[in-house]
Amino acid sequence: MQKKLLTKIYISVRYVKVIEFKKIIQKNVYLNPFKQFALSEGTVEIRWDPLTQITSRIVHFPARKFEKFNFDEAIKTSLHVRCPFCPENISEMTSKFDKEVFGFERFTAGDVTVIPNILTFDKYCLVAIISKEHFINMDGLIENDHFSNGLSALLHVLKIIREKDKEVRFFSVNCNYMPMSGSSILHPHIQAIAGEYPTNYHGMIVQKSGGYHNETKQVYWEELIREETNLNERFIKELGKAHWYVPFAPRGNGDIGCIFEKSSFFELTDSDINDFCNGLKKVLRYFKQENVPGFNLSIFSGIEGEDHFRANARIVARRFLPPVNAADSNYFDKLHMESACLYLPEDVSNKLRTVWENS
Ligand SMILES: [Zn+2]
Repeated sequence: MQKKLLTKIYISVRYVKVIEFKKIIQKNVYLNPFKQFALSEGTVEIRWDPLTQITSRIVHFPARKFEKFNFDEAIKTSLHVRCPFCPENISEMTSKFDKEVFGFERFTAGDVTVIPNILTFDKYCLVAIISKEHFINMDGLIENDHFSNGLSALLHVLKIIREKDKEVRFFSVNCNYMPMSGSSILHPHIQAIAGEYPTNYHGMIVQKSGGYHNETKQVYWEELIREETNLNERFIKELGKAHWYVPFAPRGNGDIGCIFEKSSFFELTDSDINDFCNGLKKVLRYFKQENVPGFNLSIFSGIEGEDHFRANARIVARRFLPPVNAADSNYFDKLHMESACLYLPEDVSNKLRTVWENS
């Protein structure tokens, strides 16, 4: 009888596992040239991502606002080499789908054209050219619906792939905006990959979400929203059925997250997509305020039928670093699988909240 009772208590304790926001501080002592070589202490915060346990390092150093980036030279160069995504070049310079399989050669909806990516990153790779204009600045993305139109068009084509190829399980929508984010084509576009094998991170969050659910019978992403809302340090706002927050262990200098209420992005309605894109516009307003000229974005979809996951997005600010336009990615993320950044997530959330309220 007593054993039965203890088992019951043990099980109920296991079920209320709380998400752990683990961090430690490390110090580095040096003689400071800016303070007559007085003894100084540098500080780095090492934070563990509550789901993946991947660590991020936040260097405590006065972060400054960069100058606004001037795109004139990049626009000139990109037009000089003839842009394949400009309307007059699409038919001649971009690839086509097999009409027998897809029912079209290129999928067009309004100003959006979806084509196969000539660079094969996965079993299926798509590119959505999201505007007829060659260059769209952050204001253009905020004021217009290029992104939501592109996202809807990509989901339309991904649905066809999902119907035709049952072996494909991992779907994501991704964006490199502007050259500092790794984009070699200036003309605004977003991408999608679909395949049988996940990328490292995508596979990890799906697998760890399953593990969390097995252990606690709860959905990690719902628990995260609950914890972040209670703590009120990094949670931004819910907008419709999209929940915005600044992740505890950031993947870059300005990393913003969004959690949907559905597991797979194929379950998202038009209104869910609009909610997400309206939130994204607020994030871009914050980037604009901070003179962030580029970003990476990924929306990760869960495996259909596995309800322990929630489709979610990460948006990371990207910059060239002065004075020599250095990359803001280095040996840490390239070789150590570690993110190192200068901005505290709690500072990012404070600034983003202000922009959010005023827009
Ligand atoms: Zn173009």
